[in-house]
Amino acid sequence: MQFNQFYRGDGPVISFEVFPPQTDEGTTRLLDRLPRLKELGPSFITVTYGALGSTQSRTTRIASTIKNKLGFETAHHLTCVGAGPKEIERLLERIAGEGIDNIVALRGDPPRGSEEFRPVPGGYRYACDLVAHIRRFGNFGIAVAGYPEKHLEAPDFQTDLGHLKNKVEAGADLVITQLFYDNRLFFRFVEHCREQGIDKPIVPGLLPILSVGQIKRITGMCGATLPAPLLEQLENAGADEDEVHRIGVEHTARQAVELLESGVAGIHFYVLNRYFHIAEIMEAIRPALKERATSRVKA
Ligand code: FAD
Repeated sequence: MQFNQFYRGDGPVISFEVFPPQTDEGTTRLLDRLPRLKELGPSFITVTYGALGSTQSRTTRIASTIKNKLGFETAHHLTCVGAGPKEIERLLERIAGEGIDNIVALRGDPPRGSEEFRPVPGGYRYACDLVAHIRRFGNFGIAVAGYPEKHLEAPDFQTDLGHLKNKVEAGADLVITQLFYDNRLFFRFVEHCREQGIDKPIVPGLLPILSVGQIKRITGMCGATLPAPLLEQLENAGADEDEVHRIGVEHTARQAVELLESGVAGIHFYVLNRYFHIAEIMEAIRPALKERATSRVKA
C-alpha cells in the first residue's frame, strides 16, 4: 500500500522509524522487537539507510522482513550516498522485487569528518534528482525530508523551502519533517509551505529524548534546537535516568497530543529501535487518537 492511500483519509496516520543495527545480534534483537512495535498500532514502519553509521545492505533485509514475514507495511529509506544512477536503478529493482511499495528519498549526510556532501562521479547531488529517478523507475510512494528549522547547509529558511518545493514537484507524495521540540516551529513551517504552494501532507517527525548526551549530540548534528526550559529540566535531572526518561516521554506525548488536536495528517516517531518509551507515548496519546477518530465519524 502506497503513502497516498494511507494519507487519503482524515488520518491521523502513525508511523515508526527504525534503523538497521550494525551487528547480527542487534539485528536479531530488532527483528524480535518488530512484532511488539507493530502491536502498538502504527500504520507502517520505515527503515533508515546508512544513517547513524548503519550499513546500507541491512535496510532491504529488515524492510523485506517487515513486509514479507510480518505482513506489515513499510518504507525503505534510500540516499544518494555512494551510488550513481546505475546503482540506484539496481537498488530500486531489489526493493521492488521485495514487494516494498514506499521509499523515503534523501540525499544523505556528508561522511563523518567532512563538511560537504560529494556525490560519486555522475551521481546525484540533491534529493530532488533521486525523487525524479524513482518516479521514472516506476510505481513507488515517495516521501521526502522537510526542515522546520531549515536544513543546516541552507543559507536561509526561504531558500530551503524552495528546494523542498523542487522535491515535491519532482514527484514526492509526502513530507516528513526533521525532529523538533517546539511545535510552534512546525506550525510556522507548514504555513510557509502552504504559502509556497506545497500541497502534500506534511507529517511531523518526533524523537523522544532518551538521554541528555544523546539529544545534545543529535540536535547538534541536525541543527534542531532544544527549548531552554526543556534543556534546563533535563540538566537538572542530571544522571537520574528514570527522571530523564519521564521528562522525555512526557514532552513528546504533550507535543504529539497538541499536534493531533491541530489536525496533522499523521505523526512519524523516530523510535530508535527502542520499545518502552514509544509504548508509553502511544498509551498517553491514545485518547487524542480516539478523539480524532470519533470526530471523523461524527463529521
Ligand atoms: P536535499 O533535499 O538534497 O537538501 C540538502 C541541502 O541541499 C539543503 O540544504 C537544501 O536546501 C540544498 N539544496 C537542495 N536542492 C538544491 C539545489 N538545487 N541547489 C542548491 N541547494 C540545494 N539520512 C540518511 O543517511 N539515511 C536515512 O535513512 C535518513 N532518513 C531521514 C529521514 C527523515 C524523515 C529526515 C528528516 C532525514 C533523514 N536523513 C537520513 C538525513 C538526511 O539525509 C540529511 O538531513 C541530509 O543532510 C539532507 O537530505 P535531504 O534529502 O533533505 O537533501
